Amino acid sequence: MAWKKIIGQTTVKNLLQRAILEDRIAHSYCFIGNEGVGKEAVAIEFAKVANCEQPIVLDKTIDACGHCTSCKMMATLQHPNVQMIYSLPAPKAMDSRKDNISEKLSDEQIAEIQEQNALKAVNPYHKIQLGKATQIKIAQIREVKRGLSLTPNSQGRRFILVFKAEEMTPESANAFLKTLEEPHSNTTIIMTTSEPQLILPTILSRCQQVFFQALPDEELEDYLIDTFKLDLTEAKLAVSIGQGSYTKAIEYLDEDMKSLRNNVVDLFRTALKKRIYRSELVNKLQVILTEKDKNLIDKVLIILLLWLRDAMNVINQAPEKTLINIDQLPFLKNFAKNFANLNLNKSISLVEEAIRNNWRNVNQQLLLINLFIELRREILSESNT
Ligand SMILES: [Zn+2]
Repeated sequence: MAWKKIIGQTTVKNLLQRAILEDRIAHSYCFIGNEGVGKEAVAIEFAKVANCEQPIVLDKTIDACGHCTSCKMMATLQHPNVQMIYSLPAPKAMDSRKDNISEKLSDEQIAEIQEQNALKAVNPYHKIQLGKATQIKIAQIREVKRGLSLTPNSQGRRFILVFKAEEMTPESANAFLKTLEEPHSNTTIIMTTSEPQLILPTILSRCQQVFFQALPDEELEDYLIDTFKLDLTEAKLAVSIGQGSYTKAIEYLDEDMKSLRNNVVDLFRTALKKRIYRSELVNKLQVILTEKDKNLIDKVLIILLLWLRDAMNVINQAPEKTLINIDQLPFLKNFAKNFANLNLNKSISLVEEAIRNNWRNVNQQLLLINLFIELRREILSESNT
């Protein structure tokens, strides 16, 4: 990793580099921004650069060398100066007398944590996920305090990275506040959160708050193509669904998205068939919706929305580079030819309404069937006028 591997966030990168160059790194930061915009990745990179033994200084930039002992330790996230804190699974009750957290966890849980750390080392955008872990417990904060009271045995600056700081329990937050109130020399605490409203105001006010923006589409697209060897359509679909979040885009990649897209387009075609379509539509819907998963339906609806926007762009003869489903160009053109005078605004708002309704308590299958029937009515009647 290097700064250039961090997607977007130019303002934040500049701010932190200036802090290192001018030797005024704050004692505590709070990185605030939506999930998946790179708060953790930036925190890790910041710690790496600040600890690098031979940093590369150019103009007003400073980057890690990538070769020194410190950089090598950072590459595996096993640097004595850098400690990551995040929600851990609940330890077994019978071991609760033990003081040290790692002693309380089962071998299996420790292996799971090590695996997550390794994934994070390879890809700092990796979202750490441990089964049933939703709280940063007071024992973890106590361990941080103990660590801070010891003299560091290595050079450089210590970094405590608290990921998803809103997951601290009230006791943890209170204990943590005390740590923030007594800054340690050569030590920086970085909290990250997408929900600052859930963090004690007294904690927030003690930190330098750094705000992260949504990721720019093009940069996220390039990154996905580069990292996951996606084709342009796949990358564009993932970025559109991700809406500025790496994590969301990636969740989408985990599903076979092109085949999902093809299924959705096929549903749409079925709904526009001249004669019998209902039973076929219902059958095909059942194939896609093997489980009633609101997230999946959300994706189906967004895909449909993106496809309709593409169709509208083709009808309006917008430049091809504005299209997301570029691999569907022949079909889109054919659709535009058949429905040359069609105004798709109404259809698009029908889909947008369905996206909103999906999150309410509605029958999902009915929602989709009704939507396709309404789209059919709308599109076929418009095309007849
Ligand atoms: Zn280095």
